[in-house]
Amino acid sequence: MPPDFAHEREQMVRHQIEKRGITNSGVLNAMRTVPRHLFVPLEMREQAYADYPLPIGSDQTISQPYIVAFMTALLNLTGSEKVLEIGTGSGYQAAVLSLLAREVVTVEYLPALARSAGDTLRDLGYLNVTVHQGDGSLGWVDQAPYDAIMVTASAPKAPEPLLKQLKPEGRMVLPVGGRGVQWLELWQQENGIWLPEVSLPVAFVPLRGAFGWQDDHE
Ligand code: SAH
Repeated sequence: MPPDFAHEREQMVRHQIEKRGITNSGVLNAMRTVPRHLFVPLEMREQAYADYPLPIGSDQTISQPYIVAFMTALLNLTGSEKVLEIGTGSGYQAAVLSLLAREVVTVEYLPALARSAGDTLRDLGYLNVTVHQGDGSLGWVDQAPYDAIMVTASAPKAPEPLLKQLKPEGRMVLPVGGRGVQWLELWQQENGIWLPEVSLPVAFVPLRGAFGWQDDHE
């Protein structure tokens, strides 16, 4: 039988996530449940539960487990939400979200990644996740409005189309800043105005597309 990494997954939750102050039991359970090793390339499996991001091909990365948990916790999901994720990558973050929301719509720019993430999610039975290929910096208008949005690639600023596709009481979390380092921002409406609250410094790969970074140069 192939290893199920149950011990590694439990250690990850205890030492990387709980110890750093995440208490949301839904998030901890989701991180205990999703088999992260099945979302990374075969040669990375042994490292799947380590305390750092991993390459997933096409120059992209799956975030460090703690960052996945931290961003998920910021969305305060209760199980009834429709969530939009931009930057499907491996599909791991979408799987975590799918255990905490009613429905997850996720958009990936690179066709090869969109295809493989869609296959992985389907094979593992995450049936409330829909993967689309396209420019997610424009959101995904067909299924808007959303209760929550998570962007897992770094933007020069919060993309306008995404704020437009959020419900007034919705929340959006995304990394905003320079090409190397960004700050995680949580956007919510206060008196009818969208405002960001800044939390952790992070390092995400760049968001492409109309409201992302336009080229590969620094
Ligand atoms: N959430 C992913 C990791 C994201 S890595 C996971 O759990 O594995 C960032 C991803 O954003 C990459 O796959 C990259 O191709 C994608 N991306 C970059 N710009 C994008 C855009 N404009 N629309 C959709 N996806 C984008």
